Amino acid sequence: MNTEAAGKDFIRQIIATDVGAGKNAGQVITRFPPEPNGFLHIGHAKAICLNFNVAQEFGGRCHLRFDDTNPVKEEVLYADAIRDDVAWLGFSWGKHEFYASDYFDDLYHMALKLIEAGLAYIDDLSAEQIRALRGTLTEPGQNSPHRDRSVKENLELFQRMRAGEFGNGERVLRAKIDMSSPNMNMRDPVMYRILHTPHHRTGDTWCIYPMYDFAHGQSDALEGITHSLCTLEFADHRPLYDWFIEKLELHQSRQFEYSRLNLGYTVLSKRKLQELVSNAVVSGWDDPRMPTLAGMRRRGFPPQALRKFCARIGISKNDSWIDMSILEDCVRDELNETAPRAMCVLRPLKVVITDYPEDKQEEFAAPNHPQQPEMGERNIQFTRELFIEQDDFMLEPPSKFFRLGPGREVRLRNGYVIKCEEVVYNDDGSIKELRCTHDPATLGAAPEGRKVKGVIHWVSAAHAVKIRVHLYDRLFQVETPGAGAHAENWLEDLNPDSIETLEGCLAEPCISEATPAQAYQFERCGYFCLDAHQSTAELPVFNRTVTLRDSWVKVNK
Ligand code: ATP
Ligand code: MG
Repeated sequence: MNTEAAGKDFIRQIIATDVGAGKNAGQVITRFPPEPNGFLHIGHAKAICLNFNVAQEFGGRCHLRFDDTNPVKEEVLYADAIRDDVAWLGFSWGKHEFYASDYFDDLYHMALKLIEAGLAYIDDLSAEQIRALRGTLTEPGQNSPHRDRSVKENLELFQRMRAGEFGNGERVLRAKIDMSSPNMNMRDPVMYRILHTPHHRTGDTWCIYPMYDFAHGQSDALEGITHSLCTLEFADHRPLYDWFIEKLELHQSRQFEYSRLNLGYTVLSKRKLQELVSNAVVSGWDDPRMPTLAGMRRRGFPPQALRKFCARIGISKNDSWIDMSILEDCVRDELNETAPRAMCVLRPLKVVITDYPEDKQEEFAAPNHPQQPEMGERNIQFTRELFIEQDDFMLEPPSKFFRLGPGREVRLRNGYVIKCEEVVYNDDGSIKELRCTHDPATLGAAPEGRKVKGVIHWVSAAHAVKIRVHLYDRLFQVETPGAGAHAENWLEDLNPDSIETLEGCLAEPCISEATPAQAYQFERCGYFCLDAHQSTAELPVFNRTVTLRDSWVKVNK
């Protein structure tokens, strides 16, 4: 084995061996083959990273191929979203964008070839009847009464199917393989079905469409894919793909299967995600709680973090559940490096600095990143009236509470040390404001011998920008939604509190320049990113991308 491949995953080891042995003239061509019937999710990111990275590592290329064989479920909207998402993740396929529908002519001629060779036949049985004769895992299937039609009759019927002479479901073309095969996929699988539905790319040219299994392997072959990488559930389909390739004498691409990504507290199945969207459980495919790439992007996850996550979880053949906290850690790692800091008070409490003149205003320089001076600084304004976080004040604080309480001192981040002298109440007994004094000698660093432990964030009342904030939690309240007895009622596992909206949050003015692509760390509150869909000129809306620490585990376990 190539020493460079040692320690790499099994797929890279195989490819390194193939390249070393000069197979396919040393070329590596992979593909990412989505069905355009939904948005891509984080599981697809694993497949995308694998295919594109492997191709790049071996000096090859990766195709983006839409496996668009089912006109009923597919839409242009999905293909557009998929293209956007793959590009956003940071991969490019150049001119190598393909569609299974580009091969409909080829596939039709392949079908004719198999009919002529006596290897495919037209069946008049209904889908239900076919299923009934298919047998089970322990019992062989039975031959259809139409299995032994003559080649001539099959050809004629297939052409009539194509010409639109039959209604949906009246006839199918099946491969003639083996009704007693232990592999159910080999029991005369359907190759073509009748669907009087226009296709988003071929219009109404066709009323018969190839099945995914009759298109997938041959599409790989037509594109000269050398290594066809897919998830484990396709392992049982491989003998069928190989059978078609062999009988049709096509280029042999090798298929390798790896385990799917399963992520805790969410679902990664397009069917289920589609259900969340159509039942309006979420606001759309790009709802920031969705495990879709569009949702994660809107939530503020940087693409680098997703790529890091895919590298961290690796590739294997073992089915496993990955903890959401691994993904969130990758997001934190990335944002900790790249997100500028800003202050935002989520639940404001007014503070009046009684010994600070009403008409006075100072500006303090604050670094945009504590460890990265090259990210520059900004000015923050200090005035007599400020806001701090309600949580940072307690009427009767325990001794370990290093923030504000009656008679206590705290440092305002990048500002002065203040002392709470008086609490002013509303008529209903709630706290209206705190009256504090400041110590002018404490700006920046405290003088010798002056110890104040707590540091809190704050904003100037006159300068703060009002924003709305969405805080997110897991979409589901159990790690494996729909597991066991919940298979049918998986929606019951939804977390009813997956979103909390805070109005009237107050942020320092620099956030007016925020863009959706640049997350901020609101100091002490987490990472946040502008939601362009929901923001208006008057009211910016921010999503919390992720908390500063993994508080979820502590609270819920
Ligand atoms: P779903 O089961 O969610 O509907 P799919 O497999 O039907 O997904 P495709 O569009 O066919 O979705 O997937 C395109 C590629 O992405 C396939 O090669 C598939 O194996 C891979 N893929 C899909 N889901 C995952 C996952 N959870 N982990 C890794 N790869 C995945
Ligand atoms: Mg699929």
